[in-house]
Amino acid sequence: AAPARTDFIRQIVREDLASGKHAAIKTRFPPEPNGYLHIGHAKAICLDFGVAAEFGGSCNLRLDDTNPAREDPEYVRAIQDDVRWLGFDWANLRHASDYFGVYYLAALKLIRQGDAFVCDLSAEEVRDYRGSLIEPGRNSPYRERSVEENLDLFTRMRAGEFADGTRTLRAKIDMASGNINLRDPALYRIKHVEHQNTGGEWPIYPMYDFAHALGDAVEGITHSLCTLEFEDHRPLYDWCVDRVDLAGNPDLLEPLVAQDLPKEAGKPRQIEFSRLNFNYLVMSKRKLLAMVEDKLVDGWDDPRMPTLQGIRRRGYTPSALRLMVDRVGISKQNSLLDISILEGALRDDLDAHAPRRMAVIDPLKIVLTNLPDDHEESLTFSNHPKDPDQGERRIPFSRELWIEREDFEEVPPPGFKRLTVGGDVRLRGAGILHCDAAIKDADGRIIELHCTLDPESRPGMEGANRKVKGTIHWVSAKHAVTTEIRLYDRLFIVPNPDIDEGGKTYRDYLNPASRKVVTGYVEPAAADCAPEQGFQFERLGYFVADRYDHVAGTPVFNRSVTLRDTWAS
Ligand code: ATP
Ligand code: MG
Ligand code: MG
Repeated sequence: AAPARTDFIRQIVREDLASGKHAAIKTRFPPEPNGYLHIGHAKAICLDFGVAAEFGGSCNLRLDDTNPAREDPEYVRAIQDDVRWLGFDWANLRHASDYFGVYYLAALKLIRQGDAFVCDLSAEEVRDYRGSLIEPGRNSPYRERSVEENLDLFTRMRAGEFADGTRTLRAKIDMASGNINLRDPALYRIKHVEHQNTGGEWPIYPMYDFAHALGDAVEGITHSLCTLEFEDHRPLYDWCVDRVDLAGNPDLLEPLVAQDLPKEAGKPRQIEFSRLNFNYLVMSKRKLLAMVEDKLVDGWDDPRMPTLQGIRRRGYTPSALRLMVDRVGISKQNSLLDISILEGALRDDLDAHAPRRMAVIDPLKIVLTNLPDDHEESLTFSNHPKDPDQGERRIPFSRELWIEREDFEEVPPPGFKRLTVGGDVRLRGAGILHCDAAIKDADGRIIELHCTLDPESRPGMEGANRKVKGTIHWVSAKHAVTTEIRLYDRLFIVPNPDIDEGGKTYRDYLNPASRKVVTGYVEPAAADCAPEQGFQFERLGYFVADRYDHVAGTPVFNRSVTLRDTWAS
């Protein structure tokens, strides 16, 4: 079993359960459906869902859809697909928009308490009044409006009487606060925009901090885990939770009844952790969207994209991602991690689990001239050298084979251990061959090698133990299945493509060789697989049958990662 995780968040959860503060814990994963989830989100998902599962609690998937103009049902579908793929399931699927009625009643309560006011300053004026890190803000001239006037104006905002941007509802906190988030932040804005769930019902929409804090409270979330950039928002989060006090005011939850949602509000605690960032990647949704729209990649699920849909297609497995998240750990230190941590987790996961197969991606033919034309046999290979449970398979062997062109050198460089004219090499699992001649075409290009198979070196024979320098892989030419192979590599050639410097942006650092498509050959047992089956192609790397383009019998493989870290930077 995996060792118990001991990060500071799980420590807090353990203590809260031990002290009886909570009988059961509840978390949530709250993506905004304005793009596809990426590798960074995998960390949040593993944490939110993982903590809930480990402590017998539950986790909601909450779509943070408070920003109507930017959302798309395509993203909503992909988000659900990604969470399930990573191995998690939600207790409830919710939307921030499910709570619009509650948020509205909460806003009215704040106004009545003198904790919120309607402000007529323009966005630009609000910025000007806000002050700066070194300068306190100034009170809005509308801050001292009466409760009656605020109620009147806010209900008219809600009725749709005012144009976009003409008024906001603002919290009345402290314009001199050292924390700018507390300088009378906006709680509601006017936006006459259709919403995918609530249609034209609302001409006003709640701001993120207000909606997020109350969304957590409404769902009875105990531990609201989020990334470090929200640390400075925590005082506002707590202010919203405390001043509204949904748990102590069940009347505010009345709108939930009509929607068949439980009235279970609580008092959540926000805890921040560091974002996951890797070098050689660009992860902001804005840039990923631009890359898709400008066709720098083939779409959100291009295997070179850091989206979960992309890396899934690349051959990343849920267990590799969970392993990576465990290795990275949970802390409060933001850092840019080396991509080898991500790739290493994939290699280790696939090394342990992926069946082995033989494939040739740059074929050179060899003819075993001492075998009869119709020679055919079937050799037994284990599927995995370290996992006998994966069983065995049969590989056809015949007189003509494909080997890798680079496994032969006419003029071998010093230290070359593979095939050369007059030399011997071991054919993986089949015997030892001697190369007699390289046959060339009119242009001097080698078209095939004529070789002799040592009959005393076949599997199980004494002569098979004879020492030869190298072992190479092969496939039987007659039985090989022609395969499209997509050799993927890193999308960017520099470690930090995300830093715009010297007039350059990430677009200037695209790797022109990030995808090379070749035609190769695989043994029959590789061609037959289902989409998304991963293999180690011996000596070549880890490959996966493409999720969309592969069909059993007419294979398409994507290279997930090379066997070793061969990136030279
Ligand atoms: P982006 O800045 O890429 O658009 P976001 O934070 O706006 O990301 P959300 O959809 O709001 O994206 O994220 C949902 C959850 O995932 C949030 O709780 C957020 O903190 C978390 N998350 C997003 N990016 C990362 C990351 N790189 N590492 C860890 N958690 C992340
Ligand atoms: Mg966000
Ligand atoms: Mg964002």
